Amino acid sequence: MAIISASEHGPHRGYSRAQVKYAASYVVITFVVLLILNIYCSQTCQKLFYQSKQSSMIEKCQLASDEIATLEVLNSSTVTGIVSQMESLKITRLVITDHRGMVLYDSSSEALGKYMLLPEILQALDVTETTPKGNNVFYWKYYDGIMDSRAATPIVCYGSVVGCVYMTEYDVAQGALIQSLQDTILRITFFLEVIVILFSIAFSNAFSRRLDKIMSSMRIIQEGDYSHKVNMGGNDELTILGNEFNDLTERLQTSEQKRSRFVSDASHELKTPLASIKLLTDSILQNDMDMETIREFVGNIGDEAERLNRMTAKLLSLTRAEGRTDADCEIIYMAPTVRQVAKMLRQTAEKADVALNLELEGDTPVLILEDDLYQIVFNLMENGIKYNIAGGSLTVKLSRVEDNAVLEVRDTGMGIPEEALSHVFERFYRVDKARSRQTGGSGLGLAIVRTIVQRNRGEIQVSSVVDQGTTFTVTFPAFDTEVDRS
Ligand code: ADP
Repeated sequence: MAIISASEHGPHRGYSRAQVKYAASYVVITFVVLLILNIYCSQTCQKLFYQSKQSSMIEKCQLASDEIATLEVLNSSTVTGIVSQMESLKITRLVITDHRGMVLYDSSSEALGKYMLLPEILQALDVTETTPKGNNVFYWKYYDGIMDSRAATPIVCYGSVVGCVYMTEYDVAQGALIQSLQDTILRITFFLEVIVILFSIAFSNAFSRRLDKIMSSMRIIQEGDYSHKVNMGGNDELTILGNEFNDLTERLQTSEQKRSRFVSDASHELKTPLASIKLLTDSILQNDMDMETIREFVGNIGDEAERLNRMTAKLLSLTRAEGRTDADCEIIYMAPTVRQVAKMLRQTAEKADVALNLELEGDTPVLILEDDLYQIVFNLMENGIKYNIAGGSLTVKLSRVEDNAVLEVRDTGMGIPEEALSHVFERFYRVDKARSRQTGGSGLGLAIVRTIVQRNRGEIQVSSVVDQGTTFTVTFPAFDTEVDRS
């Protein structure tokens, strides 16, 4: 009984958490930034109010102090007299003291005649070596929508401090202005944060939907449907990822198709000699045969076994050719290899009555693995003899065309029909199955040649005329600048 857990095929849990995590951190970061901006704006706004209040209060104090400094006698009645002329001050409370801090005038009359030793007044009257004319003092506090400001300046007469002007102001109107500004900034911050949260949710949802598409496509591919394609839309990194993913599945599909075709072709090809062997052994076992016939049958079994042997050897060679790397390549001339193959095949050619011609003057170095070159030349020359006619010829020519080294293998044999030309490089393809079988052909030789040629950055072409002959042309990039001909 197969049990499939929900988490195996449902949305990926870790991924969902990551999505929330990213969205949350985005929201937190923007919240902190907005909070800092909010605090900064409020502080700046308060500072501006502070500066404007400070200059206006100190100015008022100095105005009063300058007027009072003109008095010849500083007492309660002279001060009250001059203050009554300064109606335009518009402040909450005005206090004038003498140089000891005793109140000569108090607009609220609370402290008249008493000593008023507030820190602001003491500081304004504080005469030291560095401050021989006292200090201008300003104190400011904002709370509950009220701007509480206090200022004190010394009254200086003929260079010495004779008293102090002290003012207080509770500015509710400006306090309300600050409050409303801060409220507005706070509202804007809140509004922006809500927008950020909504956008975060929308973006992370869109992002997760697109990632989900890839994840579900991966699951479909995992189940074996290589034809599936993911359509990401958009024009960003995820689109590129989707395209890469599609390329990958396409390549997987191609290699899977090749693999299954190879397996079915190989098993079909191996089945034929195995079936012949089975048939021959059954015949020997079931019929009364004379020794001569038995010997003939056993000989046939040997031939089939030999064919199986050759086929598996070629299959191995093909697999090796596909998996080999470039590490062992070297720059070599092709002529020595062609001569060596010709030497190997001379006897076969003589037996088949095929004349071998080598035209190797145009030899050009190429970058290749020597074993690969040997295999290419051997397979092509062997075919040129195998599919030739008695009295025919096989010519191998080396030349240089522009930047390429060209190997041409031309025979005067039976040729290949036009409709078969595009198939001869396919695995197990044989034009004339009966004849090829007879000559021991497996249909793998040219497939091996093409694989090796392509792996060495080369190209192979075939042209043929039936009953006149076939020409295989292999082209490699020339490497003649790198090698010494001697
Ligand atoms: P095989 O082992 O059967 O020769 P190849 O892959 O080498 O397999 O060749 C595939 C088929 O192409 C052969 O069966 C044969 O029919 C055809 N062929 C290859 N070379 C030649 C040639 N020089 N002349 C005519 N036919 C050829």
